[in-house]
Amino acid sequence: MRPTTSNEALETDYLIVGSGAMGLAFADVIIAESDDSVLLVDRHGAPGGHWNDAYPFVRLHQPSRSYGVASLPLGEDSINALGWNAGLYELASGPEVLAYFDRVMSRTLLPSGRAEYYPMCNYLGDRRFVSLSSGAEHRVKVRKRVIDATYTATEVPATHPPRYAVAEGAKCVPVNALGCLTKPYDGYVVIGAGKTGIDACLWLLENRVPPERIRWIVSRDPWLIDREHFQPGDDFMQVRLGSWARQMEIVNEADSVGHLFELLAKDGMLLRIDESVTPTKFRCAIVSRTELEQLRRIENVVRQGRVERIERDRIVLNGGEIPTGPGVLHVDCSAEALRPSPVLPVFADGQSTLQPVRMCQPAFSAAFIAHVELAYDDDELKNGLCTVIPYPDGPEDWLRMMLANSLNQFRWSQDRDLRRWIKQCRLDNVGGLKRVEGVESAAETSVRERFIAAAGPAVGKMQQFVAELDASTAT
Ligand SMILES: Cc1cc2nc3c(=O)[nH]c(=O)nc-3n(C[C@H](O)[C@H](O)[C@H](O)COP(=O)(O)OP(=O)(O)OC[C@H]3O[C@@H](n4cnc5c(N)ncnc54)[C@H](O)[C@@H]3O)c2cc1C
Repeated sequence: MRPTTSNEALETDYLIVGSGAMGLAFADVIIAESDDSVLLVDRHGAPGGHWNDAYPFVRLHQPSRSYGVASLPLGEDSINALGWNAGLYELASGPEVLAYFDRVMSRTLLPSGRAEYYPMCNYLGDRRFVSLSSGAEHRVKVRKRVIDATYTATEVPATHPPRYAVAEGAKCVPVNALGCLTKPYDGYVVIGAGKTGIDACLWLLENRVPPERIRWIVSRDPWLIDREHFQPGDDFMQVRLGSWARQMEIVNEADSVGHLFELLAKDGMLLRIDESVTPTKFRCAIVSRTELEQLRRIENVVRQGRVERIERDRIVLNGGEIPTGPGVLHVDCSAEALRPSPVLPVFADGQSTLQPVRMCQPAFSAAFIAHVELAYDDDELKNGLCTVIPYPDGPEDWLRMMLANSLNQFRWSQDRDLRRWIKQCRLDNVGGLKRVEGVESAAETSVRERFIAAAGPAVGKMQQFVAELDASTAT
């Protein structure tokens, strides 16, 4: 149905709050697979969510090939020949991601005649929103659901100032300022070891700042994922599936959670900045092996807890203090990016709250939820197919995520239509679990068989480990 407007009253099937990757991926499936209408509201002036606030040198950390919306490819599907991502699928830059989402809106959604877009508008709740430019207030009559595509609340440094104090005379900037330096500094202190902190270190090294002039404050060392294991497409099928098979085998071999992480590290299934340090964080950050080698050139890594304040001549952390000076640029990368939020049912009471249903795959998850919304009638059934896999925080969340992911995959594999839908969806970065007759090599068949043999017992083992973790946190 076409959306209708009368004076300031609007009407639509789906009111989508948030036009980031998740809101757009949801809208795209509704428009492509039904006759329903959508109305998108966002505070930002352009589609793309947090990418509007990103630092100039930001890139996707997973391949463009499986990011964005289902109906429109992103990038050229090419493999990088040069640089620190060489040999792996291209990673769109921030401007490319924004141009892509602009095309999604202006060439796919709006031309359908069933989509309306209200940028620069703040959603007030209760199906009302107000324009941040004109002040006009709108009430929306929603025929089907309100979609909350804001819940994952991505934090980036430009919008989330540091939580520590900075004294007058100390120079501390958000990572966005690195791209506009007007003079070199004696030294650079990068604060944060998430995706953004890693990007800031790599950017400094790429711009030929000697590693001795970089100091990296790492309050919690992260476990990192090898990007090679997250490559889509047939050409990486063996590596991708081989890594999944190996992870399942390792779960079966481990005799405790601690042992599990030892084995994952030993076989390169999880990476870390320093082999001698046991990470205490897991946030789905992804690096190539070459990027990791580069990061390891920085020897001045400070592991003394979180920054409490930056003074003119010292940085006070909750585990000690280190000297600094007026010629040093402190680069804040402490925003949380993806934080775990309490899990809500995806479908409830005329509303849907978009959350990941596949590990570290928000775009696929939102498209999948939209398909489930259209293809099934009952909220209970829909929620059964959309078990939420919250963003992780600690290493044990790797285990919880793998378990929930495996159970979701299993549930989906029992439904022929869902299997078909996933197989044709360009956002699906798993693929390859089903034999492709006549195309597959003996080596590929063998890796699939290893995966199938290991996955069943591994689910039981992961359930046991998770139960042990739950019991130890309860006491
Ligand atoms: C640097 C970086 C790199 C990343 N790389 C990848 C990658 O390679 N692959 C991947 O899958 N994921 C990646 N991610 C994860 C990323 O968070 C998701 O891909 C995705 O962009 C998140 O989209 P979202 O729609 O959930 O949230 P957001 O982009 O945060 O969008 C939410 C939107 O809701 C709007 N909003 C909030 N409240 C209101 C309100 N009251 N009224 C109106 N509007 C409101 C906000 O303005 C915002 O535009 C990356 C994240 C970061 C930070």
